[in-house]
Amino acid sequence: MKKLTQMIHGGITGDAQTGAVNVPVYQVSTYKQDKVGEHKGFEYSRTGNPTRHALEELIKDLEGGHAGFAFGSGMAAISAVMMLFSSGDHVIMTDDVYGGTYRVMTKVLNRLGIESDFVDTSSLQNIKDAIKPNTKALYLETPTNPLLKITDIEASAALAKEKGLLTIVDNTFSTPYWQTPITQGADIVLHSATKYIGGHSDVVAGLVAVNSSELAEELHFVQNSTGGILGPQDSWLLIRGVKTLGLRMEATERNTEKIVAFLNEHPAVSKIYYPGLEEHPNHEIARKQSGGFGGMVSFDVGSQEKADEVLGKLKYFTLAESLGAVESLISVPARMTHASIPPERRKELGITDGLIRISVGIEDAEDLIEDLRTALS
Ligand SMILES: *Cc1c(COP(=O)(O)O)cnc(C)c1O
Repeated sequence: MKKLTQMIHGGITGDAQTGAVNVPVYQVSTYKQDKVGEHKGFEYSRTGNPTRHALEELIKDLEGGHAGFAFGSGMAAISAVMMLFSSGDHVIMTDDVYGGTYRVMTKVLNRLGIESDFVDTSSLQNIKDAIKPNTKALYLETPTNPLLKITDIEASAALAKEKGLLTIVDNTFSTPYWQTPITQGADIVLHSATKYIGGHSDVVAGLVAVNSSELAEELHFVQNSTGGILGPQDSWLLIRGVKTLGLRMEATERNTEKIVAFLNEHPAVSKIYYPGLEEHPNHEIARKQSGGFGGMVSFDVGSQEKADEVLGKLKYFTLAESLGAVESLISVPARMTHASIPPERRKELGITDGLIRISVGIEDAEDLIEDLRTALS
């Protein structure tokens, strides 16, 4: 099945009982048992709910995995995946991961004895050098946030496999429409479905797909034990979001290409980060492993003052955290999404005070460019 068809017909479609073409919202916590332990596959909605199950089957199909899981947020999904590890285990992670991921590893999971090291995973040698006797997993984000660095998924997953490590990929920025890490050797793929998969700035959710029955069993055990599940209404919203995911990603891609071309020529922009640019250091890898470059672009305007000036003049770009929605969003990572990263570390990573990140929406590109032109002048 081709991607666009899979987004409409993947997972579980419709309702066998009524003929409804959409999966209904099963707003229910418990299920009648005919005899003790005899039921129709559902006992209690933390363990399983039909609407959530339909979404979990859908993300499984989209990512080419063995099983899918839905959580109450991207961070709940990431935390549940990390619960697969034990005290004394070590995880190697991409250095500019999402701020919340950095925070949960260094302020919460470290207290439970799960160790992490953050390296620039765009170099295979850095990954090799970071492997310790207790390393259990390689956790990648590609493209990264906000510097759009690219890691070669196939090469790093092959290295991880050789060393007996699991490969986990945060696929939020690319979505399964453009990139399916499991088909490139990853074991676990996860998403903040709050972003592109939901796509309409109306739901907070997380999704995971795993590539084996062993991982499926272990993660279901964690999901049911720790309970960070997604509710039926939000599961339904994500199923609805997925139906237009392909169309939205295509529209975003077209707009982004035009906006990047405009920013690239603009004298007020000192540096631009976008994997679709030929001068991006890992442009070829991005092209190899992903069908599109996505709608996230970062650019530097030189200072905090200049950044504030730009933000103050924009009409269509909404100043907000988050990304991946139909409306264009803009943010200043140093003071927003990445504020939980200490200033010294932000500096090390290159997240300057003048760095602006945009999430390109599906408005008319001409309006968006006009907006940026006015703001930058
Ligand atoms: C937003 C985000 C998360 C966290 O997801 P929430 O849904 O906000 O909990 C994780 N990874 C990436 C790349 C994100 O952009």
